[in-house]
Amino acid sequence: HAKHQGRNRAEMFTAELALEAADRAELERDLLLALQRDEFILEFQPQVEVVSGRVVTAEALVRWAHPERDLVMPGFFVPVAEESGAIVALGDWVMSRVCETAARWAKADIGQRIAVNISSRELSQADFFLRLRHAMASYQTPPHMLELEISESLAMELDERVLGQLRALRKEGTRITIDDFGTGYSNLSRLKELPIDRVKIDRSLVRDIASSAEARTICSAVVGLIQGLGMEVVVEGIESEAQMDMLRVIGCTLFQGYHFARPTGESDYLARFATLRQEQRRIV
Ligand code: C2E
Ligand code: MG
Ligand code: MG
Ligand code: MG
Repeated sequence: HAKHQGRNRAEMFTAELALEAADRAELERDLLLALQRDEFILEFQPQVEVVSGRVVTAEALVRWAHPERDLVMPGFFVPVAEESGAIVALGDWVMSRVCETAARWAKADIGQRIAVNISSRELSQADFFLRLRHAMASYQTPPHMLELEISESLAMELDERVLGQLRALRKEGTRITIDDFGTGYSNLSRLKELPIDRVKIDRSLVRDIASSAEARTICSAVVGLIQGLGMEVVVEGIESEAQMDMLRVIGCTLFQGYHFARPTGESDYLARFATLRQEQRRIV
């Protein structure tokens, strides 16, 4: 821009960073206040198994119900919370809500588990599993009602201590899922050594699948690889019937996306997608 031409690039860069830092400091403070004021909420989005037409999992997604704004989405505050460390307190809140909700759903015989997103900063806390176990014990949450979603980039870096804890949880029935697969650079030989049940393919990989033969080739190879390693594939970000049809041809059976439902609050979610285990109705 013309008005910037006289300025030194480095100077502009520094000014931008400073502004960003101030914004971030403010946001960090607001996040901690919001936690104290109990302004966070969870929404749930169904994961559908198309063969049976059933909802098998609800992914819990955090939102900030700011008193003066529209719902603030996690893409805006989770990265800042991760950098500042506020994610630990926020993650505790999420985990506690998820464990409480999952315990209630188990009692009501709702045959769906709840998937929760775990960020790298949370998982790297030495006492993360202690706190998770504590939340599970407080609400008597059956381990099989929980699914932990760990992003691909993070999954590649897990150390033996964390892997041991994940293996233990998995033995008790908790599912472990790699999230956002296809956005990082996985070491494929490492993938098969991780204690995981499922891999969630990122929506960036399936966005153009209905129109692009190249996108289909890539998806088909990725799906084949994951299934070949004995893991389940979930595809997220399904927005159209055409995308779903294409992915079914490739062999995918588990889907999540706006095509089925947008994330929504618990009572609306249950009104639409909860049925007793024995009488689950088809939604597709
Ligand atoms: P994610 O775990 O990959 O979650 C999927 C995101 O895609 C969600 O965005 C969901 O609303 C959105 N989505 C679902 N279906 C579609 C679709 O068909 N089209 C499009 N365009 N989007 C779709 P959301 O809720 O904004 O969350 C963004 C990210 O924030 C999540 O990505 C996750 O990484 C993080 N996040 C959300 N909740 C939590 C949480 O409780 N804890 C942590 N640590 N991270 C969270
Ligand atoms: Mg997720
Ligand atoms: Mg994802
Ligand atoms: Mg994603």
